[in-house]
Order: sequence, then C-alpha cells, then structure tokens
Amino acid sequence: MDTHPLDYAVHVSDPLPISVTEPLPNGEDRTFQPIATTLVHGERDAVLIDPPFTTDQIEETAAWVAASGKNITAVIATHGHGDHWFGADEFAKRFDAPVVATAGTTAVMRGNVEARPFAWDKLWPGQIPDTSATAVTVPFNTLTLEGHDLRLVEVGHTDTEQTSVLHVPDLGLVAAGDALYNGAHMYIGESAGGGLDAWREAISTVEALAPRYIVAGHKNKDLDDHATRIIAETRRYLDDAEAALKECSSATEFFHTMLERHPHLPYGRTLLWVGAKALYALREPGADPVTATVGAWF
Ligand SMILES: [Zn+2]
Repeated sequence: MDTHPLDYAVHVSDPLPISVTEPLPNGEDRTFQPIATTLVHGERDAVLIDPPFTTDQIEETAAWVAASGKNITAVIATHGHGDHWFGADEFAKRFDAPVVATAGTTAVMRGNVEARPFAWDKLWPGQIPDTSATAVTVPFNTLTLEGHDLRLVEVGHTDTEQTSVLHVPDLGLVAAGDALYNGAHMYIGESAGGGLDAWREAISTVEALAPRYIVAGHKNKDLDDHATRIIAETRRYLDDAEAALKECSSATEFFHTMLERHPHLPYGRTLLWVGAKALYALREPGADPVTATVGAWF
C-alpha cells in the first residue's frame, strides 16, 4: 500500500514575562524563552509534540492545531519540564487523543506537578491549567502515523533527567525537546556533576539518527531547523559553558562571560541566569539540589 508522505509544521509561542520583578544582572527584565510545538502530519492524521503551558499559549496553539484540519492521534511529551506539557491534558481533551511519553519522562512529569506550588505557579500565578501527568507509554516507544513509524528515542539526561526525542525516519526529522536548543541560551541548572557529559552523549545519540531537520524545544522562530548547524551550535554552547564554569568564581561572572561569548543569542538569558544561580549554589557545602534549582528562579 502506498503511504502519503509526512510533513511537519512548527508553532513557536512567544517569550512570556515572569512574575519576578528583580531584573537580570545586565539590567534586563526577566522573560521565559520561546517554546516550539511541532505537528507531524500525514494526509488526515497528525501527532502534536510538546504543547505549551499557559492558558493564553494553549488557546493560541490550539487554534493553530485546529486550523490544520488534521485529526490528532497523540499528544507527545518529550521530557518532563512543565513548559512543554502542562497544556497536554487540555489538548488531549480538545482533540480527543492520548498523552504519550516514555515511562522515565512520566516520572519526571510527576515531579514537575509536585513542584508546581513552589515554582511554576509562583512564576505564572493563575495562568497554568490543572494537570495530572497521566501520560501513557506505547509498546517499544513507537507510534504509527498513516503507516509511518515514529519513535520516542530515550536520550537520558539533557536539561533534565530521563528525556527523549521523537524520531520520524521518513521525514529525516527529530523533534528534540530540550536535547538541543536553537538560538537560545541553554538551561544547565540540572547539570551539576557529570551532567554536561551526559548531555553530550545525548546529542551524539541524536546525531546517530542522521536527521536533516531538528526542531528544538526552545527555538528562535526566525531560524531554520538544519540539523548539522543546530548540533554544532549546541555542542559549542556546552563547551563554552563548561569552560566558563571553570574560569568564573560566581554566578554573576559566569552570566556576563556567557553573554560576551554569545552576544547574538536573543533568548534564554533568564534561563542562563537561573541555571548559573543553581550551579553556583550547589558549590556551597551541604547544598540541596531541589532547593538550589527551585530557589534559583526567585
Ligand atoms: Zn524547556
């Protein structure tokens, strides 16, 4: 049987203000980075990957999905950070589709729900809908879309634990969640210890899939999805971060050093600052990882 070729489309939710009013060390207001949501579609059916999380973003993205006219067969979360799936239940309800994730990601999703009152709901009070983190797994982490296989590939630690990417071999596409970034500073706050090396391994796992296109979960919407450029730039950023972590004795110095090395990255400076604060807090004797990562936002 001939199958209709697949294609994909991306919707980028614009950066959001954050309730914390204290500016960044360079005097800028705090904003969250843009969030990319991907629709992989055939002739009739589609899967939706990494939907956004605030009520306004959900409305805007749901209208974009509805305008596609496709029948949504799954809402997929690549990793557990709430910004990429707190809206998933809402999309599941509206488009009558299950929320799908790996077992590892589902465990991290539960942790993010538990952290909501101390973190997410304080940063965006009243703006995030109720969520349950009741994603289902699929056999062999593989879904089928009009006869084409889509595979959730587990890549381990990236900007959080137990992450995955969605590989669409027939499209040469990887919807990468936060395993790769495209035109934004990266969140390294959960990468103390060997985290950056684990992250590099994850990038090599993605590279081995030989994708032509990568949709990064945080992308500058003016940039393309060319895989080789995105892989090279993400690796370089991690190398620069590692070098700066060795050279700099404070979070503030690290922040300014990374801004100097990446003057053309318009997004993610708040994430850079939050990640730096967490990692430098963890250098203090007896520091607790959860307190350090949550506290870094405030
Ligand atoms: Zn993210």
